[in-house]
Amino acid sequence: MSEGRAEEIVIVGGGLAGASAASILAGAGRPALLIERDAEPRHKVCGEFLSIEAQTYLAHLGIDLDALGASRISHLRLIQGRSMTKVRLPFVARGLSRRILDEALLQQAHSRGARIIRGQAVKSISVDPSKVRIDVASSGQISAATAFLATGKHDVRGMKRVYAGAMDDLIGFKMHYHLAEEQQQALEGAVEVILFSGGYAGLQMVEQYVANLCLVVSRQCFEQVSRSWDTLLDRIIGGCPYIAERLQGARALFERPLSIFQIPYGFVHAPDPNEPQGLFRLGDQVGVIPSFTGEGMSIALHSGCLAASTFLAHGRVSSIYHGWIRSDIHRSIRLASILNRAVRHAAGQRAVFHLCRIWPAAMRHVTTLTRVQEASMSRALSAS
Ligand SMILES: Cc1cc2nc3c(=O)[nH]c(=O)nc-3n(C[C@H](O)[C@H](O)[C@H](O)COP(=O)(O)OP(=O)(O)OC[C@H]3O[C@@H](n4cnc5c(N)ncnc54)[C@H](O)[C@@H]3O)c2cc1C
Repeated sequence: MSEGRAEEIVIVGGGLAGASAASILAGAGRPALLIERDAEPRHKVCGEFLSIEAQTYLAHLGIDLDALGASRISHLRLIQGRSMTKVRLPFVARGLSRRILDEALLQQAHSRGARIIRGQAVKSISVDPSKVRIDVASSGQISAATAFLATGKHDVRGMKRVYAGAMDDLIGFKMHYHLAEEQQQALEGAVEVILFSGGYAGLQMVEQYVANLCLVVSRQCFEQVSRSWDTLLDRIIGGCPYIAERLQGARALFERPLSIFQIPYGFVHAPDPNEPQGLFRLGDQVGVIPSFTGEGMSIALHSGCLAASTFLAHGRVSSIYHGWIRSDIHRSIRLASILNRAVRHAAGQRAVFHLCRIWPAAMRHVTTLTRVQEASMSRALSAS
């Protein structure tokens, strides 16, 4: 088979993980080529809650959240049925649509010198000791000395993730709404986490006038409502007056909700000591944290920055990076998975709700434990 064209560095996927790596590599003067499947910016299933760690990485990458119109979130309201408890967050979080955020990061990588091919999907990848072969639909094969795999939830042939121990029966939905004015005011400054039978939802403002409702339900719960979004929403609204009030008079901004099936929450890539060097796994391709903690984007950004800075310091020895990233995210993902399993059942939901009500500091403590730690961030930020 022909070797096709040769590149030094190829990044596959232009979400937060891929674009952050491309930005750092190009900023350091390295010839980075990024291949993104989507031709245009698009919405993605995500709660769009940006933790303080995600904000730190974005600022480091030159992204101005104020200029992009991000909302500010200072407290969390935990809601179960007719009851609500409020906790101040240990930081001011931000909310921003992924369609805006991912595009800003991709443009930033481009302005720093990364070459970007859009609208072409990578079909398969294979790695041998000296190079990575990347098969791109419609433009043939590229041979790269080093590749960064950042395709998010989408597995690429030849590089499938091994999901041992991860959850596989969860479905995520996202809908943007234009809320009635008094409901916008009531939601301002808060993320509302709603626990309901079969799952949980997050509601927050993302930009002026736009609220994001993002939910995760079990497959069983979705089957009970005959796989119908409208029935699912009616059931949630029926059991929770808070959300019924928020959505009263709201206008849905998409024709249909976005959805994602079989989210592998709990997955952490286990490096194989015999695997060839030269392929770095980033973002959801290296670990998937349950969305309850709002930490997936900071892990994606952390992995992108850490992989790029490890490459700049140690070359294509990807095993160094895979060892570090696993130790950085493993504990957070394990703890978040335990929490996620607990809130899937009524008894667990009641326990979490009452714990937060009587001991709000516990919630703050858990949010701190599931975050990327400062020492890990320093390592990722030092070389870039
Ligand atoms: C229901 C839900 C709610 C969430 N809520 C939050 C939250 O509130 N806060 C938070 O921090 N995190 C949240 N997350 C997690 C967060 O969305 C992800 O962790 C994050 O998007 C991962 O970034 P990524 O760059 O790895 O992947 P992505 O953002 O998915 O980017 C992958 C990119 O690769 C491209 N691509 C895919 N296949 C190919 C291919 N074959 N060739 C070329 N390009 C390809 C895609 O088009 C995409 O642009 C949530 C996740 C879910 C499921």
